[in-house]
Amino acid sequence: MSTIAAISTPQAVGGIAMIRISGEDALAVADRVFVAVNHVKVTEMRGYSCSYGYIEHENVRVDDVVLTVFRAPHSYTGEDTVEITCHGGIYLTNEILHLVLLNGAAPAEPGEFTKRSFLNGKMSLSQAEAVMDVIEADGKAALNHANMVKDGRLSRQMREVTDSIIEILSALAYWMDDAEEFPPELDPVRLSAQILGISDRLSDMEAHYQDGKILKNGIRTVLLGRPNAGKSSVMNWLCGENRSIVTSIPGTTRDVVTESVKIGPYILVLSDTAGIRETENEIESIGIEQAMRVLDTADLILYVVDSSIGITAEDEKVLSACKNRHVLLLWNKIDLDGQISPDDRYPVVQCAAIQENSSVKMLDALKIMFPAANCNQPSIINERQFRLLHQANLHLADAIFLLDYGGELDMLVGELDQAARNLSEIDGTDVSQETIDGVFSRFCVGK
Ligand code: GDP
Repeated sequence: MSTIAAISTPQAVGGIAMIRISGEDALAVADRVFVAVNHVKVTEMRGYSCSYGYIEHENVRVDDVVLTVFRAPHSYTGEDTVEITCHGGIYLTNEILHLVLLNGAAPAEPGEFTKRSFLNGKMSLSQAEAVMDVIEADGKAALNHANMVKDGRLSRQMREVTDSIIEILSALAYWMDDAEEFPPELDPVRLSAQILGISDRLSDMEAHYQDGKILKNGIRTVLLGRPNAGKSSVMNWLCGENRSIVTSIPGTTRDVVTESVKIGPYILVLSDTAGIRETENEIESIGIEQAMRVLDTADLILYVVDSSIGITAEDEKVLSACKNRHVLLLWNKIDLDGQISPDDRYPVVQCAAIQENSSVKMLDALKIMFPAANCNQPSIINERQFRLLHQANLHLADAIFLLDYGGELDMLVGELDQAARNLSEIDGTDVSQETIDGVFSRFCVGK
């Protein structure tokens, strides 16, 4: 493979920046641009060692830098690698990269360092995908989960499941050669139960995917409730600032306002919507339409109720449209006299949005509704992995059907084989070049 180079830090002014060179000639390329203060050539340096010196071009000093050497296979890519840490100017960093490219390196493609790491067997495809999740994590829970997958826990789980399918396949192949009928070890009822066990495990993983998405993308949360119930006040309380306009005239929150707020390990992506109610007013009804659209994709509905009024027929109508979703009732305005007892059909948080300054009660409710944020099980992390897992599970369901209804042995083997292939593709052990390119094209240059 050619020797590649790229700037691995952001294209922005900073204290320091880093240029990475990887490939067979990485050390030789670095020698052509770097002069060490101790006069030791880069090609003579040991792995995991640093050298202070200068980047020079035609005897003119460009920058003083620290250069680190990693020798194959003990580097991120598995190849000889040099990292040049320089001052963090945009022109300066690009100038050093330019010199490195002039001296024999080729510009790296997006994600090419991580792609080489995968191709050189340093990590599986799902671990490589998790590298991006680590970079993009915007909260503790998301980071912990991304690190779990990056450290290979998901890969190990996938391998276990795949191995159990392959074990069945080998037993079947052995008997197919010698026997007309299933031997007792491969009794159809027993085999069907065994495959069902594997399928249940995959179904669990599918279900965990939603939890993983919630950790990664935040909980898409919609604030609903009748006009004047206190939605904007709740939004302001949770966001800690006057983000929505609060007035006592019903229907003032006309459009959908979105904010991200952090409550413990959770990130709520909050949409404050127009109050849901029958309206003649055209502008307001546009807001309500938007609110209903947002509702379609919501993970959580914070339904604000004015506790001095209680749940009305209008509220019931909207709540019935929220069936099969996580609904949390915010029983608001508890500071007022004459409140009505909270409705116990839903989880409830009692609050006085205009004077709240803590989200502890909300956090307690979220922990019950979304226990996954505290769980230490790795789950699949993207649509590619979900699609493959789902396909594998469909093949297992077909295999069970064939066993239960006396189907052809060849067909059974075909279904199990497909399931094993789908699962192997998640980790990249049986994967096309196109898929690999697709995965890494989503990375940034320098990673
Ligand atoms: P929205 O139409 O649902 O967005 O309601 P707003 O947040 O605009 O609030 C409507 C009115 O109720 C405003 O006058 C708020 O000050 C008032 N309000 C909101 N929350 C509370 C609360 O907890 N206690 C009291 N007493 N008034 C509140």
